[in-house]
Order: sequence, then C-alpha cells, then structure tokens
Amino acid sequence: NKIMKKSVLALMSVAVFSLTSSAAMADAKNPKIGFSIDDLRVERWARDRDFFIAAADKLGAKVFVQSADASEQRQISQIENLISRGVDVIVIVPFNATVLSNTIKEAKKAGIKVVSYDRLILNADIDAYISFDNEKVGEMQAEGVLKAAPKGNYYLLGGSPTDNNAKMLREGQMKVLKPSIDKGDIKIVGQQWVKDWSATEALSIVENALTANNNKIDAIVASNDGTAGGAIQALASQKMAGKVPVSGQDADLAAVKRVIAGTQSMTVYKPLKLIASEAAKLSVQLARNEKPVYNAQYENGAKKVDTILLKPTTLTSANVNLLVSDGFYTQAQISSK
Ligand code: BGC
Repeated sequence: NKIMKKSVLALMSVAVFSLTSSAAMADAKNPKIGFSIDDLRVERWARDRDFFIAAADKLGAKVFVQSADASEQRQISQIENLISRGVDVIVIVPFNATVLSNTIKEAKKAGIKVVSYDRLILNADIDAYISFDNEKVGEMQAEGVLKAAPKGNYYLLGGSPTDNNAKMLREGQMKVLKPSIDKGDIKIVGQQWVKDWSATEALSIVENALTANNNKIDAIVASNDGTAGGAIQALASQKMAGKVPVSGQDADLAAVKRVIAGTQSMTVYKPLKLIASEAAKLSVQLARNEKPVYNAQYENGAKKVDTILLKPTTLTSANVNLLVSDGFYTQAQISSK
C-alpha cells in the first residue's frame, strides 16, 4: 500500500511537472497568440489584423501583433521575440516562404503551435495552413482577362518571388491560358515577378514592357490589385487605360473604383473577416489541444500540412454590390471619387 501511494505521488508530480512545462496547457483558457505579419503597411493585412484581434478577443484569447515591414531578418527576430514571450500559438504571414524552418523548429521545441496564414511556409514543421484557394484565384484572373481579350499579346505580372502564393497563382493562370496559347490565339510576350508585390516596381516593369513591345500589349494578367494599379498607371500614360484588360485580387478600395470606372477588368473578393475569424478559431483550438476541422492538405516540402481552404469570388462591375451587402465596404466608400 505504501509503495502504491509512493508511486501515485510520483506519477502526480510528473503530471504537475508536464502541465507547468507545457506552454500550451498553461494558458488553455485564455491563450496567447502571436501574429507575425509580413507587412502591415499594405491595406489588406491591416484589415486581417483587425478582424483577427476582434475574433480572438471573443474567444478569450490575447493577440500580440508584429509587422516585419517586408524584412525577412526582422520577421525572424520578431518570431523569436514571440517565442520568448511564451505565447501558445504563433500565426505567421511569411515574407519569405523558405527561411523560417529553424525559427519554427525553436517554436515547436517550446511547445508552441504554428499556423501559416494566407501564404504557405515551406520546409517547416507547421501545424496548420489557412488560405483562400490561390490556384483558383489565378484561374479567375486569367478567365477575367481572357474573356475581354480572347486573342493577342499577353503580359504576365507575377507576385513576389518569395511568396509561395505567387507560384500557385501562376499555376492557375497558366491552366486557363494554355489552350489559347496552344491554339496560337494568344502569345505571352513577357513575364516578370514583382519584388515585394510593389506597385511602383510593377509600374516600371509595365512601362518597360510597353516600350519593348511598341505598346503592342493586349492584356495584362496582374496577380493582385497593388500591382494592377502600377500596370494601369503605366497604361494610362500611353492613353491605353481601359483598352487593355487587367486583372487583380483583394478588392482593395482603389481597385474596386477602377473596376467601376472600367480601367481594371476584375478583382477577386476574399472576405478577410472570414479568413481572420476562422484563423482565430483554429489557433484557439490548437492552443486547447482540440481538433480543428480541415478540408485540404498541402505538401510544404517537410510534411503534408492540414489546411483550411476558403472560396474566393470573382468581382466585376456587374457584382461589385456584393461588397456592400457583405459589409466589406459601404456604398459611400465605393461610389466616392
Ligand atoms: C496575398 C494577396 C496580397 C499579396 C500582397 C499575397 O500572398 O494572397 O492577397 O495581395 O500577398 O500582399
């Protein structure tokens, strides 16, 4: 009996020890979540942050936000800082998909769960990924442009070379364009990845492309609204804005106005409140060791990552009102000049 009591006591102390040593268990009721965002200076990410904090707050979690301002080194030190603060979960919008393996190893060693937000982190032991279907977004972009320009010279304006989404978008775009390329209806006259998704970089790329092709560009498949804005500015200075179809994504306010004005053919609406609140729920579930519901898996080079994939919607001048009925913008916002 004495021996029994002793071993029960020993077992209990092991249990207590593992409870206190596990970061995830310590704050299960009110988890602490670190949110490391590539670049909060960009319109959409600031909205992601606000929606995420609001949703996490309702679930009893506290959020610490960091913006790397497009610096891979800054993002690594900010994540290290979140690790030493003892958060339960770190949610990351990576600037560079391929440089976080070691930092994430440290987080995992400390018992912290890691979620890849919107952009997939490669070659790292992450717990989950949540995004809109990026290949589908790419298909929508190419379809939108192809409808307006079924024949002619195409220019492909890709996203940041450090962002895995840029490649997934391109895959979707090519899937749609390939039959027309094979038929000889369309010709890709140039393509370029845009560093940091920068609008000014996109502007100068398209200026140069127009010069190199004697303005004979009939369509531009741009991978987001920021770069579409740069492309359309370049077209405007050649009096070609509105004549050359251009795609985008994000439903940035400026882009929605361009879609209404007819200088941008389409954008893609990705309800940010949805991804942010689903991500907050997912993070809290992981912190509490509950089982989130996934609907996809993505290979990231290290493992098959459990994924929540959300549906994007094509937006043209015909259905922009969806943004108002969905509460993404007010009517006044989209109709003001
Ligand atoms: C996101 C886009 C965004 C872009 C630039 C991509 O990874 O999916 O929504 O426009 O990054 O920030």
